[in-house]
Amino acid sequence: LTDIVPPERRRQMMAGIHSENTAPEVAVRQWLYRNGFRYRLHVCTLPGTPDIVISRRRVIVLVHGCFWHRHSGCRLAYTPKSNCDFWLSKFAANVKRDRSEVRLLQSTGWRVVLVWECEVRDGSFGDRLRKELCQNE
Ligand SMILES: [Zn+2]
Repeated sequence: LTDIVPPERRRQMMAGIHSENTAPEVAVRQWLYRNGFRYRLHVCTLPGTPDIVISRRRVIVLVHGCFWHRHSGCRLAYTPKSNCDFWLSKFAANVKRDRSEVRLLQSTGWRVVLVWECEVRDGSFGDRLRKELCQNE
C-alpha cells in the first residue's frame, strides 16, 4: 500500500477521499462500453457523485475497493496491524457513508449495483453485471 502509489493518490487514500478513475473502475467502464452499455461518469448532481450512471436503465454502478469499503469476508479487506483505532474509525466512517449514499440513491428511484475490486480482478463481475442490467428486458 505504500511505494507503488503515486503521492497524490496516496494522499487521497490516506484521507479516505473518494477517488476517481481507479484501475477497477476503468476496467468496469471498458467492459460496459464493449458490451454496448452507455454511461455517464461521476455525476455530481447525484448523491455521492456516483462513478458510473446508466440513465437509460436507471442503474448506478459503484465500483468499490475491497479494503476501503470493507468487502465482508474478502481477503483484501484486511485490517492493518498498527494504528488499529485509526483504521477502524476510518473504515466505520466509510461504511456509514456508503450506506447513506446507497439509501439516498435508492430513495430517488435508482437501482444500485455494487461491483467489488476482487470481482474485477478475477473477472467474475461481468456475468453478474449483465444480469443486473438486463433485468427488465
Ligand atoms: Zn472483495
